[in-house]
Amino acid sequence: MKYELPALPYEYGSLEPYIDAQTMQIHHTKHHQAYIDKLNGVLDKYPDLAQTPLENLLQSLDSLTMDEKDKKILRNNGGGHANHSFFWQIMSPQKEVDQKLSDEITTTFGSNDEFKKKFNEAAISQFGSGWAWLVRDENTKLLVYGTPNQDSPLMKNHTPILGLDVWEHAYYLKYQNRRPEYIENWWRVVKII
Ligand code: MN
Repeated sequence: MKYELPALPYEYGSLEPYIDAQTMQIHHTKHHQAYIDKLNGVLDKYPDLAQTPLENLLQSLDSLTMDEKDKKILRNNGGGHANHSFFWQIMSPQKEVDQKLSDEITTTFGSNDEFKKKFNEAAISQFGSGWAWLVRDENTKLLVYGTPNQDSPLMKNHTPILGLDVWEHAYYLKYQNRRPEYIENWWRVVKII
């Protein structure tokens, strides 16, 4: 099975003015597509692995029998495909706040503001390229942390709930070096919070 670029659930300009249409279009059709192409390329060499769902491959990277260089390509580009497919889904021009999750966030982090502060810190302090995450760990506990490059929480057997792309390609056209401003505005287009 070849992986294909998933359609966005909204138009490129739908998240304006917080995320601009040009950034969305390049991010989706160029960056995300490039991860998919490289993922398909490396899986061509391992037809047995190509049948396994991507989530399972990412969960079991350590135990896969592959050339180390190919494994790194799978990690970066399989992670890139999983992360971006997820990222498009959690954003929306319309809020659909998940009240049950909000209550759980308050219980876990003290308040919604405390949670956002923690999440923003993870996003701002991620050195270089990476992601900030709200996840459920293996015991269903909510956690916030950052990952480098395209590493996914799936690689730790965690389930992503929110993920923020802080690679410069996600914000540089509109925000240049102002990552904190991008992060602050991103909350306006997060669907469930
Ligand atoms: Mn990206």
